[in-house]
Amino acid sequence: MAEQTVFARGFSAEKCIQCGKCIAGCEYADMTPKQAREIMKKVTAMPQWYPELAFCIRCGKCDNRCPKDAHPSDLERECLEYKRRAESKTPASMAYAVNGMGVEGWNANFFRDVYKGLGKTDKKILQSWATPKKSKDILFIGCTDRMLPRTWEESQALRNIAKFGGPDDCCGVWAIQGGLLDEGYRIARRLIKRLSENRFERLVVGCGHCQKVLTRILPEKLGIVLPFPVIGIYDYFLEMIETGAARVIKPQKIEAAISDPCFGYENGEAFLNSVRRLATTIGMTISELPHNRENSLCCGYTGYFNDGKVAKFVKTALIKRKDFAKSGKKHFVSYCPGCHLFNHYFQPGYKSHYLLEDVLLALDGKVAEPFSIFYRRLVRPRIGWNLASVAKSALMPVKE
Ligand code: SF4
Ligand code: SF4
Repeated sequence: MAEQTVFARGFSAEKCIQCGKCIAGCEYADMTPKQAREIMKKVTAMPQWYPELAFCIRCGKCDNRCPKDAHPSDLERECLEYKRRAESKTPASMAYAVNGMGVEGWNANFFRDVYKGLGKTDKKILQSWATPKKSKDILFIGCTDRMLPRTWEESQALRNIAKFGGPDDCCGVWAIQGGLLDEGYRIARRLIKRLSENRFERLVVGCGHCQKVLTRILPEKLGIVLPFPVIGIYDYFLEMIETGAARVIKPQKIEAAISDPCFGYENGEAFLNSVRRLATTIGMTISELPHNRENSLCCGYTGYFNDGKVAKFVKTALIKRKDFAKSGKKHFVSYCPGCHLFNHYFQPGYKSHYLLEDVLLALDGKVAEPFSIFYRRLVRPRIGWNLASVAKSALMPVKE
């Protein structure tokens, strides 16, 4: 595995002409083009944390607006890193949502709390996933999907692929999104080490965030080139259907608008097209939201990783809600587990579908643990206690 010794943090200062288009066109900023130019002049002259950047949730969409391909979202992330480093402590509510730091002594963690509260059968499955495997393809199941183990383990369509992913195995995306860059990169490196304990030819990843970290962030920011090919679960399903290894036995006759997540555009045009092709292959009739693909809006979750404030994710989710209203649709399909959870629980009046679940319903005819039972995972004393202890940090108003 080749690796650079010095981090290439991502932003190309030498390409930037301080035109301000990145910020001026941002759905989360409220600035004139002149203000945007002035901020970019200041930030590029001396990258550090500026309160004017508090609007940014690092969704990555400005990278598409930049005429010079300078990667402004990386600059935003790096500026947030300055803020993180100046804090005496990472906000408790945010730290609680970052998985993969257990080995470094971050004890309270939402995902681990959910895993610990699972029933006997689910826990047994998680234990087996934590053990390295030997298989042609290995399926890495990310932190969120791991909260419903039977959905994956009992799927007929996925019966021939070995599954992997222990409680601490994380791609590091939320630490990275929260400006904890070193922590995020360490988490990602640990994941590669863990993946390398398996013997396999190809890695299939269940979550698009993991796919983004492994195929884009690691090579581009750390110069790490993986010694194995990686494909996303949705391309894997398409491959199975197209080669006859799986077939649609129960078409999902749903009319829904596709709700693209942050990672959709970052994983590339082919990825965005595959998701749409798969949705129609299983019988869905899909349409686009006003903001889609390279202009898609965040479900709200990334907003939480500014400072771990509930108010910020609500504000971010309300912007998405306007898009839902403009679309005239009542059904939305997400292909990110986080987006699905947020759209399901925080967008009343709309019906959220999770593409993974719809695909399994189409191929298997059933899903062992539908995502709609997720709230039951939260009714646990340990989670209640830990949520109460971070509540102050989560509920304090956002200072912008
Ligand atoms: S990063 Fe790109 S869009 Fe932003 S100011 Fe620089 S050149 Fe313009
Ligand atoms: S990363 Fe997203 S929120 Fe931040 S400036 Fe770019 S488009 Fe706006």
